[in-house]
This record gives sequence, structure tokens and C-alpha cells, in this order.
Amino acid sequence: MEPLIKSLDSHYCDSLTQYSRRKTIPVKVGDVIIGGDNPIVVQSMTTVDTMDTFGSVEQCIRMIDSGCELIRITAPSIKEAENLRNIKAELRKRGYHTPLVADIHFTPNAAELAARIVEKVRINPGNYADKKKFEVIDYTDASYAEELDRIRDRFLPLLKICKENGTAMRIGTNHGSLSDRIMSRYGDTPLGMVESALEFLRICEDEKFFDVVISMKSSNTQVMVQAYRLLVQKLNEGGFKPYPLHLGVTEAGEAEDGRIKSAVGIGTLLEDGLGDTVRVSLTEDPEFEAPVAKALIDRYATRAEHASIPEINHYPITPFEYTKRQVSEIYNFGGHNVPRVIADISKVEKITDREMKAVGHFYLPELDKWKMNDLGSDFVYSGSNPIPFMLPNGMKEIQDVSVWEKAPDQINKFPLFNINQYREASRFHSELNFLEIEDTEIVQVIPAVAGRKDTILILKTSNSHSMPALRRAFVSLLEAKCDLPVVVKVSYSDQTADMTMLYSATDVGGLLVDGLGDGIMISLEKEGDHTRQEVLEQIKLHNSVSFGVLQAARTRMSKTEYISCPSCGRTLFDLQETTAMIRKRTDHLKGVKIGIMGCIVNGPGEMADADYGYVGSGKGKITLYKGKEVVKKSVPSEKAVDELINIIREDGMWNEPETI
Ligand code: SF4
Repeated sequence: MEPLIKSLDSHYCDSLTQYSRRKTIPVKVGDVIIGGDNPIVVQSMTTVDTMDTFGSVEQCIRMIDSGCELIRITAPSIKEAENLRNIKAELRKRGYHTPLVADIHFTPNAAELAARIVEKVRINPGNYADKKKFEVIDYTDASYAEELDRIRDRFLPLLKICKENGTAMRIGTNHGSLSDRIMSRYGDTPLGMVESALEFLRICEDEKFFDVVISMKSSNTQVMVQAYRLLVQKLNEGGFKPYPLHLGVTEAGEAEDGRIKSAVGIGTLLEDGLGDTVRVSLTEDPEFEAPVAKALIDRYATRAEHASIPEINHYPITPFEYTKRQVSEIYNFGGHNVPRVIADISKVEKITDREMKAVGHFYLPELDKWKMNDLGSDFVYSGSNPIPFMLPNGMKEIQDVSVWEKAPDQINKFPLFNINQYREASRFHSELNFLEIEDTEIVQVIPAVAGRKDTILILKTSNSHSMPALRRAFVSLLEAKCDLPVVVKVSYSDQTADMTMLYSATDVGGLLVDGLGDGIMISLEKEGDHTRQEVLEQIKLHNSVSFGVLQAARTRMSKTEYISCPSCGRTLFDLQETTAMIRKRTDHLKGVKIGIMGCIVNGPGEMADADYGYVGSGKGKITLYKGKEVVKKSVPSEKAVDELINIIREDGMWNEPETI
């Protein structure tokens, strides 16, 4: 067996410091070209039953109008594959020429038919020629080779049809549905995901079929990012052509969580120039997906013009596996502490105790007590607007050093310095000081903090290539063996809530997935014309996005995680309604992961590492899972949420929701 990963150096992108899109071969999909020098393509998938021709067509049109340039439709069997002909004809009749992609799992015969009708076929290499049995088989090299021959026989007819019809293909690996063969040899790993695609890609190349796009999706953002990087490295090392990449995070969920999770995965890769087409999967109507994908992609239109970032000679970070940067424990930062959230309330003068609910802390006047929800920030930065009341125990205040020096309480408040103030200071807090620095100041900062065990760096950048600029500063700290904890600070001026979610998830999440960062602080750049209420709304958003980014990057679990599929023509219940219902009853179960999947065919595999699963298994019937194990089959849907809660309760993971 070849070594798992030959080198941990960064051969997965052109540059870690200068934005540049990876050069890929162009793949023609109807009138759209993925890869080459072409703009990144936005795509999405329908959720209407594929047999409902007019419903599908109407939905496709809504998707196209919202910015979708490529539309995927599920074809679970021959009859749906056949109906793609009617959907395509109706769309063309109405003047829409957007290329269609057939989504195939398990059914080569449906793929072979669809490849004659639509412009592209997506196959899942984990189940194209294999049925999942969750078996671990010890393959000898000979029996493994026999399996590969079997795949080749199964796959060749499709390749022939694609070649004859000019149909493109996506080899779409899903972390949750790897074949038993791959699982037994490589395990549930990024390398297994890559190898799963390469098994099929080798056959494509042998047959001189190159119209291939590849994806490596997972609902775990760390795994997803690592798998795409490893894929690029393996394509380079193996002498394959540079195939375009389709980026996506599976089962990302809905609303804020879905957007943040998608951006942590997709945005991190886009920053390094990877990705030629993007699909954001939300448990929402598909016309809401394209604008999110577009907002992510649009950030790179002029990115190459960014201020220069010093090159990296040797990259000390492992891009294919998660390794947390080792840092000292200072106060409650670093060491084994979870990353901290600092809420910036410095733009609010004389904030009141009641307004602290924006950062998750609730004052109850009748009891004269504080309560905190799951999103209670750990610190507040008040700048030059000191808080005029006593704070709850769990929360601490950071003040500008000029304010702190005159503060009556210098023990429970902590000073924030800039580099000049820090160098010249005669007095520090004995345990905890904050030093705010620009990435460009890192060279001066390193000697200034040498030997200190009382300082947290707050790192920010004004470089438009933000994540790589911040990452470069981390590289300098690693090279200098500076082990002070670092809070990553990002600031945004007026922008939509969606943009704040997507940008901070990319700019900070992209560092967290590589083990960089011991805290997050999101600030409002300028007050502008905002009313006090609007500023408080922004602070509330920044606070919840901060926790969302930490959770999506899997570094701090503060809420229940929902791994819900985006739904498709296979879905057996209203996913949005059901997700909302489950969420209402369980969203106080901090750290518990619940999979909500539309069908039993792909759902159990794709809910990945969920602790519990709610999976549609027939009309009005639900199968409930604990991990990968079926606990209750065919539960009527009206009783299924109660039964799910019973399973969680029996497992000792339930607690009653508190009311605030
Ligand atoms: S799990 Fe959801 S999105 Fe995936 S095939 Fe089933 S219903 Fe469709």
C-alpha cells in the first residue's frame, strides 16, 4: 500500500500568499464551461419530485432567475431519468437553456439513460457499483484488484455513452457514503474520499474521457477542506489532468447555521484559489442557494489586486489533518480551553444591563440575577465606553488601556494596548493583557512579547486577502516559537447579515479549520448613521455569528447541530417544516448532533457523524437512528419527534429546556 500522505507541504494550491485561481482544464457542460479561465459557476439542485414535470420546470425557472447557472435533478430510477427529457424539453420551450445535471446514486441504468438526455451526469463513486452493507472486509491485493475490475465493467458503458453524446460527468464523493471497499482499506478519512474518486478517474483517463469535474463533500468542514486539498495534491502527484473542482458542504442545514457552515468549507478553499463551481446546500427552497453561492464567489472577482503578503518558505501547518497550534494557557485562553468569544460593544455609550442580552447575558431585575444562554460571550470589549454596572461572574470586560489606567477596578477589568502603548507601558494587569496588532506589525510584535505569559494577541488585517494575510502572521508566530494565544479580529462596515455570516465564516473559519486561533472578535467598522438599536442588532448578530463560526469549524460546540439534507426529488416529508419542528424541541441540547434526512437510500450514509438520526423511510414513516444503528423502524411521522426525544432521553443526553 502506498504511503498515506507523501508530504505535508503545500502542493494543493498555487500560492498561500498571493491569490491565484488554480489552473484547471475546461469542462464543457452544454453552454456553460466549468474550469479553465472561466468564472466560477453557481449551481443548485431541485427539490420537487422529478416525476412532476411542471413543478420541476417552475422550480428550475425560479432557480435560474435567482442566479443558478447549472441545475441538478435527481434521477433515482429509470422513470425519473426518462422524465428528464420532458423537463428539459419544457424548459427549452420556455426559452431556458441552462444545462441540466442528473444526480445518480446506485442506479447505473438510470445514469446510462440520463447521459443521453442531459448535459452532465453526477455519479457517487461510493455507490455507483456498490451497495452499502457496512461490512468491513479484509481485502487482499488480489481481491481488491478484482473489485476494481468489477467497477470498470459496470462503469465503462456509461463512459461510452458520455463520450458519444458529449455529456460531462462529476465524480462526486461524499464522506458519508464511501464504499465498504474504501472504508476497509482507508477508513472514513480524507484519503479514503480521494481514493474513492481516483478509482473512477483512472478508468476515465484510461478511456481518454476527460470531461470530468470532481467533488469531495462532507458535512464536517475540516474533513471537507482536507479532502479537497488532498485531492489536488494527489492529482498533481499522480500525473492526472488538473480537473475542475465542484465545491460543497453537505447537509449544511438552514438559515444562519447553514450559511456559516457552507462558508467555512467553501470559503476556505476559495481563498486558496480552489473551486470552479459552487453549490451551497441549504435546507431551504433552492432559489435561496444561488445568491449565497454568488456572494461567496463575488469576493474573488478583484481579489488578485490585494496588497502583497510576504511569501512562506516552509509551511509549518499540516493542511491535510487537523492540528491545533500549541499555545500557553493564559487566564482562560489557550491551553485546553475552547476558543473564546469577545463581543465588541465599544460603539454603545453607557450600555445598560438590559442591553447585554445582545451578547447572550440576561439580567433578571426581579431576582437581581444574571442568566446566560448558550451564546453568552466570554468577554466584552467596551473600548472607551466602560460598563457602568456590575457584570455577571461569567463575563469579563476589556477596556482601552487609557480607560483601564483610571478605572476604580483594575483587577476584574483588563487593558487593551496597541504596540506602541505596550512597548512604553509601565503598568500591566498581573494576569491578562490584550495587545491588538495588524498582521503587518508581527515582526515588531514578536520581540516585544518575548517571554511574556500575561498577554493575548488580538490579530487583525486590513489586507483584502484577509485569511491568507492572517495565516501568514500565524506562520511568523510558529516560526518564532511564540506560543501566546491569538484572538482573530475581523471588522465589517455596512453590509447585509448574510455577508457578515459568509465573510466571517471564511476569514476566521478558514484559520480555525487549520487549528489557528484561540478566540474570535467581530466588530462593526464604523457606526455610520445607525441608531443605537441598529448597533445593538449588529452586536447581537456578531455574537451569534462568532459562536456559529466556532461551531461550524468544529472548535467549540455551543448549540445543537443539525445535519439536515437539502432535500431533493427523493424526499419523503417536508424537510423545512420537520427541521423547524425538531429544532423547536431540541435546540437546547448543546453539542448534540441530529441528522434529519429525507430518504433512507442516502440519508443514513450522509448524516455522517450525527448522534441521532431522523430519516424518511416511506410515506408518513420515519426510521430513527442512534449513531449508525437503527433504533426504531417505520414510526408514524406524527409520533416520530416524541420518539426521537425518548431515544435521546433513554441515552441520558436529554435535559429540560430552561426558560429565560
Ligand atoms: S438524503 Fe435528502 S438530499 Fe440526499 S437523496 Fe435523500 S432526500 Fe435527497
